[in-house]
Parts: sequence; C-alpha cells; structure tokens
Amino acid sequence: MTVAVVLFTSDLRLHDHPPLRAALASADEVVPLFVRDPVVHAAGFDAPNRMAFLADCLADLDTSLRERGGRLVVRTGPVARQTRAVAAECGAAQVHMAAGVTRWAQRREELLRAALDACGVALHVHDAVTTAVAPGTVTPSGGDHYAVFTPYFRRWSKERLRDVCPAPRAVRVPDAVRGEPLPRRSKVRGTSPGLPEGGESRGRDRFTRWARTDLPVYEERHDDLAGDATSRLSPYLHFGALSPVDLVVRARDRGGRGAEAFVRQLCWRDFHHQVLAARPEASVQDYRTRHDRWRTEEEAAEDITAWREGRTGYPVIDAAMRQLRHEGWMHNRARLLVASFLTKTLYVDWRIGARHFLDLLVDGDIVNNQLNWQWVAGTGTDTRPHRVLNPVAQAKRHDPHGTYVRRWVPELRDVDSRHVHEPWRLPEDARARLDYPRPLIDLADGLARFQHARGRG
Ligand code: FAD
Repeated sequence: MTVAVVLFTSDLRLHDHPPLRAALASADEVVPLFVRDPVVHAAGFDAPNRMAFLADCLADLDTSLRERGGRLVVRTGPVARQTRAVAAECGAAQVHMAAGVTRWAQRREELLRAALDACGVALHVHDAVTTAVAPGTVTPSGGDHYAVFTPYFRRWSKERLRDVCPAPRAVRVPDAVRGEPLPRRSKVRGTSPGLPEGGESRGRDRFTRWARTDLPVYEERHDDLAGDATSRLSPYLHFGALSPVDLVVRARDRGGRGAEAFVRQLCWRDFHHQVLAARPEASVQDYRTRHDRWRTEEEAAEDITAWREGRTGYPVIDAAMRQLRHEGWMHNRARLLVASFLTKTLYVDWRIGARHFLDLLVDGDIVNNQLNWQWVAGTGTDTRPHRVLNPVAQAKRHDPHGTYVRRWVPELRDVDSRHVHEPWRLPEDARARLDYPRPLIDLADGLARFQHARGRG
C-alpha cells in the first residue's frame, strides 16, 4: 500500500487541487494534512477574523473529505516537524503541497525540504494552485518580474492556463494517522459581528449566484460603494477555498465585458504575487523608495487613532473604517480612499495602515495587502505615484446619494444628500446638532505637506 501526504496551506478546497490530484494518482492512500504552526500566531498573523474564517474552511474541507470516505488530519506544531512525523507514521514516500510566495512560505518550503530529505521523503511543490498563472511564468525580456500592471496583464491574458482538475470522487486515508479536533469558529473571540462564513462550499455557491446576477454588470458597478456589487470572493481566494484558475475559466466561459473586467481584477492578484515572489522584502520595505520621512505612530498618534476608529470628520473615510471593523472587509474603492487619506493626506507610514488592515481584514493577505498599500502610498507599482485621492470628490462620484455613508455613519443618517459628504458646510445650527467631528485636517493643507515632502510643491 503506497501513501502520500497532501499538506494544505492556502489552498483549502477539493475542486481544482493539483497537489491532491497528483497524490491520489500516485498513491493508494492519502493523508490530507493541515498544520497549525505556532509561528503564524507568534508573528501576529492570527487575527480573529481570519482564524474564524479558517475554522469554517477547515470544517468544510473535512466534511467534503468525509463525504468521499476520508477526513482532514489537523496537527499543531512546527510545520516541518509535524509533516515529517505524519509521513513517518503512515510510511508516506511523498508530500505534495502548493507553492507560496511570501518570505514565510519560502522559509516553510526550505524547512520542509530539509526535514523530509533527511528521511528520504520526496517533496513535490505545485505551481498555479493559489494563483492562476505561477509567478515567474510571465516575465519581461531581461527582467525577473513585471513592475507595471498593464503590460503584465497583456501577456498574462495570452497565457494558456493549466486544465482545471475535478474534485476527487474518493479519498482513502490510512486509519493509523491521528488528528486533533478541528478548531471551532465559536471558540474564536473578538471577531467582527458581520463576518462572512468561510469554506469552499459557501465560496462556490457565492460565485455561482453572483455570476448570475452581478458579473454581467461588474464593469459598470464595481466602483459603486453603496451598490456593493463586487463578488466578495476575496476571503475565499485568500484561503484558497476557491481556485483562481477555475474562476478565470468560469468567468471567461460566461463572456461579456463584466467577465473581462472581473478577470482583470483576478490578474491583479497574480501581478502582486509575481512582484512579491521576486521581491519578498517588499512586504516590509518600499518597493521604490520616494525618500519619504513618514510621520510615525508617535508623531501622528491622534490622527492614526481617529483614522482607525472612523472619526476623521470625512464621512466616506469614517464609513469605510467602520465597515472594516464591523465586517472584516471593505470595498476596494473604499480601501483606496482610506489608504490614500492615511498615507498622503495625513502623511503616515503605509506600514501602520497595512498593519491595521491585517489586524481586521478577513482577506488580509501579505501579498495583496502590502502591495496595494504600497501602490496607494506611491512606493509601489503605481505609474502615478504622487496622485492624491480627494475623499469628498470621490465620495460624490462613487456614493452620489450618500447611501454608503449613511449605512455606516448613523450620526449622518438625517443629513441631506447635498451635505452628507461635507457636513461642515451645513448651516451652523444644524451642524451644532450633529454628534459628528469636524474634519481632522484641511485637505489643502494635507496636499501641500505631501507635495512638499515629495519635492513637488
Ligand atoms: P472583486 O472586485 O470582486 O474582485 C475579484 C477578486 O480580484 C478579488 O476577490 C481579489 O482576489 C482580486 N482583486 C481585486 N482587486 C484587487 C487588487 N487591487 N489587488 C489584488 N487583488 C485584487 N485584497 C486582498 O485579497 N487582500 C488584502 O489584504 C487586500 N488589501 C488591500 C489593501 C488596500 C489598501 C487596497 C487598496 C486593496 C487591497 N486589496 C486586498 C485588494 C482589493 O481591495 C480586494 O481584493 C477587493 O476589494 C476584494 O473584494 P471583492 O472580492 O468583492 O473583489
């Protein structure tokens, strides 16, 4: 009887799972393994919202495996040691897993390879599991990665994707391998009240329903803050409960401008992955320095607190920050606005904002979070690094009736549409009745400071 281990990491699904497929093709029995590594907790990446969503994903994976005669084996401890121990317990000769791009993923692979080599177990690392196109596949001439999105997208769009693999019909797990109880969502404290439920089944249902109603109009509606018409698939993609290859294929099959625009957004994920794979240090350091002398936590303590708590006096910024706290998620347009406000209007270090996002976002992701923050801060891949988004003009454009603002900032519920994005312009007596702060900063002052700092004013 031959046995293989499949180490699940950010790929918590059964559909379109190349490592699982390869393991099933080469062994009689397979151990689907998930290791809860304390390093993740020690590094502060165990935000309650993601831990709760992770518990849902693991429970769903276990259920799907049981429907096929198997089960998920969960272990706690250093990932290399636990994987080696499981391989030894069941006499596995191979371990299969998905490739990752972060510094932690690369270190994990090194540790695993060393531990498994020492006992003669082969490690097979599969590409294009957590991205549609593997980092490093599409490169410019003379470079190891694309630094600008549009040419990357052009090349990426022509790339032939690997075939989608069906979910297995049966998975036989050796009886001898012990597992621990699955982590339970109900045991996680401090989650956001509006947190979505995780798991592959929910993710697949969500895509199917959304593709029917909103995908066709995605291009026109993806920036509509109140309409909330984007897919909200990001946490499922973050945990790999959905396959990016499968989503691209299914969207292309549907066709139309909405599908094209959606696939383009999925390409942004791949774009950031190939940047970080080539420049892992960009998770903490400026990808392109602009010689900023950002305001620090100490220098800007009050501003940072007001931003985090949604009390800046700019309604759309406050609405977005409150949505983040309430749902563990925020609309992309809103992410752009609050990140521009923090880094450019308040001139605060992008890492401070990125950390707060990682503390709350259910899709919080080193690759997409850090590189999007850098994009907005102008230290990343944006070709217009010094642009500053005006939160009032943007709010009027993307939330013209103030519906999004009123949803999250109840203090402004009764303010008319003309003033809802600029309550400071209300007549003095109406203003005085509002329990809502005055603007933290004059936008013109923020702009002048930023332009001066960037040597442009
Ligand atoms: P849709 O509009 O339906 O897009 C479909 C999918 O495309 C998304 O689920 C996502 O996987 C991908 N996508 C869309 N836009 C981007 C983008 N700009 N970069 C990378 N992938 C994208 N996304 C994360 O997944 N994790 C993060 O931690 C994260 N942090 C961000 C921080 C900032 C400051 C900004 C500006 C953006 C960040 N994003 C992040 C990207 C984007 O905001 C979210 O992916 C998107 O809002 C998720 O909503 P959705 O699933 O409805 O997206």
